[in-house]
Amino acid sequence: MPHVETVRGLTRLDEDEALFRDSVYEFADQEIRPRVREMDEQAHIPRQLIDKLFELGVMAIEIPEAHGGAGAAFFHAVLAVEALSRVDPSIGVLVDVQNTLVANALMRWGSDQIKERYLSSLASRTVGAYALSEAGSGSDAFALTTRAADTSDGFVLNGRKLWITNGLEAGLFIVFATVDPGEGYRGITAFLVERDFPGFTVGRKEDKMGIRASSTCELLLEDCKVPRANVLGEIGKGYKVAIETLNEGRIGIGAQMIGLAQGALDHTVAYIRERHQFGKAVADFQGVQFQVARAATDLEAARLMVYNAARLRDAGEPFLKEAAMCKIFSSEMAERVASLAVNLYGGYGFVKDYPVEKLYRDAKIGQIYEGTSNLQLQTIAIQVLG
Ligand SMILES: Cc1cc2nc3c(=O)[nH]c(=O)nc-3n(C[C@H](O)[C@H](O)[C@H](O)COP(=O)(O)OP(=O)(O)OC[C@H]3O[C@@H](n4cnc5c(N)ncnc54)[C@H](O)[C@@H]3O)c2cc1C
Repeated sequence: MPHVETVRGLTRLDEDEALFRDSVYEFADQEIRPRVREMDEQAHIPRQLIDKLFELGVMAIEIPEAHGGAGAAFFHAVLAVEALSRVDPSIGVLVDVQNTLVANALMRWGSDQIKERYLSSLASRTVGAYALSEAGSGSDAFALTTRAADTSDGFVLNGRKLWITNGLEAGLFIVFATVDPGEGYRGITAFLVERDFPGFTVGRKEDKMGIRASSTCELLLEDCKVPRANVLGEIGKGYKVAIETLNEGRIGIGAQMIGLAQGALDHTVAYIRERHQFGKAVADFQGVQFQVARAATDLEAARLMVYNAARLRDAGEPFLKEAAMCKIFSSEMAERVASLAVNLYGGYGFVKDYPVEKLYRDAKIGQIYEGTSNLQLQTIAIQVLG
């Protein structure tokens, strides 16, 4: 007989995980939900709300307790991003970038000095951002042109970054630049840039279709001096920092998308039970029930994929293929579920007085950032075909 005591359903949470997920959702329901529409309209997240996210402990989930973090697992970060995105995917991505990209990269690649200097501030007040993309290099990220000149007085960075999430709120930026364009990807190096370093400016904020409250900004580096101690990882090994953190970050986007789809489904189920046509609730039509059943099945499949990728990562097992698969599957699922939500609200689904049109707009980004769907397919194809 095989030993089965340790086998459990992927979506079954232990007591600590369930408590954590429920407390984050409760916070989202009480503190975020009343502000969702206003934040979307104003394309802004109030600083007081960000401070509350720090107090809640979701801005430093994996950061060790010694540095003021929760010292919890990556899986907890996934649960938090899912629970927040169920209410507002803009808050979901703020927390996602902080944990799965920025804190994650610092813990993995930072020197003791870097950890000492930055981890406790990331745990208590400083929002982080991750700056890889440029106007000319998105999918082909390693074609970046931001230049880092090695001088006797540290590095001097020149260039422009585009599309940087949390740009408006962040105090610390992981900026990727090349120390030698002739070396191709082997010149790429990751630097930690503080917001008030001379020569660093946050530029224009994008006016977006979805996740409007999440800031997406241009960054300008004009003779920006960065101390040698702020190189994250090794010089010329920034490509490894980027690839490895983005592999993990993708699972976080999967979590954002399952949270979003759950939120759309929650709203829809409540609405169609109330809405009556032809003398009965819309939820009583079998045609509608089947559509909802399919959406719930789709969501369950995506959640299993996201949780599996996250648990593999925590177990130290390979997860590259699973992360790419969960990201493409859950982002496409979220678009389908949010679209169904709009359909089932009828005309009310198309107006801003009801919450689902926003979720439909928000869903689209899942197929674009942290590697477009085509780039995920490329990763999966390499894993499958060799
Ligand atoms: C709201 C938002 C937030 C973002 N946040 C961040 C952030 O915090 N940090 C950061 O560094 N970047 C961020 N990005 C940038 C994001 O990661 C890029 O937009 C994304 O990687 C795609 O790059 P691109 O826009 O240059 O599109 P392109 O790379 O120009 O792609 C255009 C199209 O071509 C397809 N394509 C490209 N190459 C191939 C190929 N080899 N095979 C098949 N199809 C291909 C793509 O799939 C896509 O459909 C953000 C973007 C947005 C919109």
